[in-house]
Amino acid sequence: MPNFSLADDVFQEAAKNYRTPFHLYDEKGIRETVRALKTAFAWAEDFREYFAVKALPTPAILRILQEEGCGLDCASLTELMLAQALGFSGNEIMFSANNVPPEEFILARQLGAIINLDDITHIHLLRDSGSIPEEICLRFNPGGTFAVGNDIMGAPGDAKYGMTRPQLSQALMELKAEGVVRFGLHAFLSSNTTDTAYYPSLARLLMETGRDLAEETGLTLSFLNLSGGIGIPYLPGEPAADLTAIGRGVQQAYQEILINRGLHGVAIKTELGRYMTGPHGWLVTHITHEKNIYKHYLGVDASACDLMRPAMYGAYHHITLPGKEHLPHDQKVDVTGSLCENNDKFAVDRMLPKADIGDLLVIHDTGAHGLSMGYNYNGKLRCKEILYREGKGFQLIRRAETPQDYFATLDIDPVWEKLV
Ligand SMILES: *Cc1c(COP(=O)(O)O)cnc(C)c1O
Repeated sequence: MPNFSLADDVFQEAAKNYRTPFHLYDEKGIRETVRALKTAFAWAEDFREYFAVKALPTPAILRILQEEGCGLDCASLTELMLAQALGFSGNEIMFSANNVPPEEFILARQLGAIINLDDITHIHLLRDSGSIPEEICLRFNPGGTFAVGNDIMGAPGDAKYGMTRPQLSQALMELKAEGVVRFGLHAFLSSNTTDTAYYPSLARLLMETGRDLAEETGLTLSFLNLSGGIGIPYLPGEPAADLTAIGRGVQQAYQEILINRGLHGVAIKTELGRYMTGPHGWLVTHITHEKNIYKHYLGVDASACDLMRPAMYGAYHHITLPGKEHLPHDQKVDVTGSLCENNDKFAVDRMLPKADIGDLLVIHDTGAHGLSMGYNYNGKLRCKEILYREGKGFQLIRRAETPQDYFATLDIDPVWEKLV
């Protein structure tokens, strides 16, 4: 597996050019990951990755993915608007939303996006939004638990997404009566898994179900959407997902379940988010405070508002101190933000080298579900985003929020006049 980490001097250089905190993204790593994915699925007919916009909804990044041939997976009005502004249209957009407001279907249909229907009751919303397309995707929820061998990978029975097996049949018959002729099938049954067996097992389930549905309804199965879920190693030393083996596993299922039964021309699509950009982002901060009470705390200039995963899920994000990594990691510390919320910690009981106020502290793997999951608690303003382009330097791709941004929704209130 390639090592995607940037050298310490890149972080140091970036911090000389831009005031911390900021997320730094590496263009080269993102491009290489798309190419590796396309290679792993080069055998597949009409393969396309639809990047899950929610993971990193920044135009400069979405353009890179666009140049590499990716489509976008959108799930909200503003995500659709972003896709539209960037010139994505038609089957370059997958609309995989749930609990969908009717106006989102209207825009998705105007853009010609592939509709991934989450619920059978959405058929009438879609009809009311203008028309039913000839080709549609259905989201499957098989219920119960999803296991590969003895490993339980997810609990779809507890998830709000998708339709039951009988609902898939019923929905397709209703859609057929409305003019649908081709369908795709989608499911998302496990999140952040590096297990080689996940995609092939999911593909098997979708292929068998899709084949049965095609026989049952007389409609053509045109594609399988394997969705997201391939994980990344957040912990140092944790094995990375083996893309080549994953591609081969899906190919084997494709051969057995579809080709050997005479079913040709079924395309493969993915909606990966984390896998595409996660390892190619870093939250770059400075240590601004050190505190010794019952525990030893290092305070940094970022907070959970810039990266929520540790606070929300207790998620591990690796932390390094550029220029100090050769020193013994003999200090047990909590690394904290400044929110009045005790879960605002990027690390708990982490062993780090001896650090000082003013040192650079880098939080790794923030390229997906990082800033985009951020929020404004305590009135904290979210940080900027910088793109690193090897040989071309740095580029500001999103400025930091300002107090004006924070107060902008008050412009119906007289207090707004005094604030600006
Ligand atoms: C979040 C999401 C994805 C991407 O998930 P990752 O874990 O980032 O790969 C893909 N499809 C749908 C429908 C999602 O909700």
